[in-house]
Amino acid sequence: MSDSREAQPAIVGLTGGIGSGKSTVARLFGEVGVHWVDADDVAREVVAPGMPALAQIAGHFGDELISPDGSLDRAALRTLVFNDPAQRQWLESLLHPIIREELVRQLRPEGYSLPYVLLVSPLLLETDQHTMTQRVIVIDVPVEVQIERTMSRDENPRDQVERIIASQLPREERLARADEVVHNDRPRTEVAEEVQALHQRLVALFR
Ligand code: ADP
Repeated sequence: MSDSREAQPAIVGLTGGIGSGKSTVARLFGEVGVHWVDADDVAREVVAPGMPALAQIAGHFGDELISPDGSLDRAALRTLVFNDPAQRQWLESLLHPIIREELVRQLRPEGYSLPYVLLVSPLLLETDQHTMTQRVIVIDVPVEVQIERTMSRDENPRDQVERIIASQLPREERLARADEVVHNDRPRTEVAEEVQALHQRLVALFR
């Protein structure tokens, strides 16, 4: 029987710059049974067609932000709020609590027996999402590796990738805020072993 007073699993944050390997490492945790939620996915889900937030955005900014297929034109919305702090503020105060509530909901899976779950987010430390977490794992690679992996994954030009990196927390600052670091500048098999060892430590810590 589910009881709302039941102990909830601890929330461990997993972050890193673009192309550092967050999704890759999250999948490795998934392979040992750890439940994880991607904050970017949730941010998209809450504005999917039919969701109340999408109707509110259309009501505020106009129907031209809705694509013919009914989905939000995210690029158009970004452009609209980019140079307009007041509109950006409006949008953030609409979405922020909705995203947070949905994150909390998804971070409490039914019938889950491990003592922790993972919140995967590129902006965990840049936003207040880290306040939801009891511990922070940083995925770390040298910036050059980050650039090369992102360029080949997204087929984006170098200058675009460099701009995104410049908008995120610098590597050293991110590392300074880490409780745990996963070094992802090495073969996947070695990273998988490190993840398994870290998983054992986290289970022991939160059990
Ligand atoms: P993020 O989610 O942080 O943006 P990804 O997990 O998508 O990063 O990894 C970025 C790219 O680098 C992907 O194409 C992924 O397959 C690759 N990659 C991740 N880890 C490794 C590794 N240890 N060795 C080689 N390639 C990797």
